[in-house]
Amino acid sequence: MSFTELGLSDSVLRAVSEAGYEQPTPIQKQAIPQVLMGRDLLGCAQTGTGKTASFTLPMIDILGQGRAKARMPRSLILEPTRELAAQVEQNFETYGKYTKLTTALLIGGVSFTDQFKKLDRGADVLIATPGRLLDHVERGKVLMNDVSFLVIDEADRMLDMGFIPDVEKILSFITKKHQTLLFSATMPREIRRLADRFLTEPKEITVGAPSSVVDTVEQALVVVPHRDKRAALRALIRSQEVKNALIFCNRKRDVGVLHRSLVRHGFDAGALHGDMDQFQRMDTLDKFKADKIRLLVCSDVAARGLDIAGVSHVFNFDVPTHAEDYVHRIGRTGRAGRSGHAFTLAAPEDGKYIAAIERLAGKELPRADIEAFAGAELKEESGKGRGRGRGKAAEKPAGEKAEKPAEKQQGQKRSDKAEKQPKREQPKKEQPKKEKDGRRGSRRGRDSIGDVPDYGDVPFGETDLVPAFLKRSGTR
Ligand code: AMP
Repeated sequence: MSFTELGLSDSVLRAVSEAGYEQPTPIQKQAIPQVLMGRDLLGCAQTGTGKTASFTLPMIDILGQGRAKARMPRSLILEPTRELAAQVEQNFETYGKYTKLTTALLIGGVSFTDQFKKLDRGADVLIATPGRLLDHVERGKVLMNDVSFLVIDEADRMLDMGFIPDVEKILSFITKKHQTLLFSATMPREIRRLADRFLTEPKEITVGAPSSVVDTVEQALVVVPHRDKRAALRALIRSQEVKNALIFCNRKRDVGVLHRSLVRHGFDAGALHGDMDQFQRMDTLDKFKADKIRLLVCSDVAARGLDIAGVSHVFNFDVPTHAEDYVHRIGRTGRAGRSGHAFTLAAPEDGKYIAAIERLAGKELPRADIEAFAGAELKEESGKGRGRGRGKAAEKPAGEKAEKPAEKQQGQKRSDKAEKQPKREQPKKEQPKKEKDGRRGSRRGRDSIGDVPDYGDVPFGETDLVPAFLKRSGTR
């Protein structure tokens, strides 16, 4: 099936063709005709499947006629993170370049003034994170009366971030009859309930993980004692032809510690986590995208859904405690048919988390050794906390905080002041007790992600890209 069979206008087709897309992805094939027919949609799909274009392309045609009045957007797209919201806006720029649609991006961490101006000018498409949108609504700067098209994207992520009450509040302001699309990578009960409440006879579409992405990622697991992880990471980076890499930590304060350590060792590295202010986040991302920074140490919250073309490597400095995060992380490389490499550094006590990842994948991760640190083995699964389901707040040790989105931390008390002065960790607290050992105290209290989606078979290709000094230790 080609794009021309989906019912899209010539101007959209032209932009799509200029974007270099030859064929619609499965979600685009199924969703676009339904959306053009005016149906509500419940899409079970994650990033990397082409889901953004599955709603932006038909929206451009549906909203093609008519103009927005000042402060009264005609459509609304809710996104859980600022980066995702900014990406969606870029999609409208790319696909809508032959139309006159106006967009406004309302995200936290940036000044209200420019956002007021855009709202006053009239926005056909409003793309927003829930906290900042409610700020504007409460100030009377935006009215929802004219919204006839609504997209709730990454609904399960909104749930994890505690945004659902805000989303429900926003939905209560939309009084006009509207078409609604809801996308979620997983369908926990709360999201199902939300869909039952706000969608009318939706067409349900489920697409699997973007296996072509995962297929193109060569993966390896390196088991090293915790105290050696930083040295092992440096050895790995030096051994590889790293064009650019994302390095994932489970906690934002570890992002800072690892970043500083890499810089101290002469690496060209930046850091990205949810407590940084928006300008820093965007600036760092832009530098990474423009190849001005080669390594980006980041947390899941900051990196979720980022669409950065041509990332050659992903390093999991920490094993994700939620197995599905592994798939999201390694999906940042090997995008758009390019090959990618994903290395995971596991400490012996990470056995249960690796087991959960392998259970989800239905395959074992190929093992590799770094000669200088060879010999460590994963400990058997303890049977407790298999890296599935939501983390318990009670598990968080005192003084430690799993990363929460800045949007929510600020959203608790919405004010200009809160936006301008994002909560930061005290530098003192960020200092590791022992510089030698990147690990401090308990490993609990990490990001909570939610239910495990059905990714089907995530293929773990044989890793013949392991460098010479890495000896394959075979599968167990
Ligand atoms: P998404 O799932 O929306 O985050 O999209 C993932 C990536 O796929 C983005 O880089 C898109 O530009 C790209 N993409 C979307 N649709 C297509 C398509 N039909 N053909 C090729 N690439 C696509």
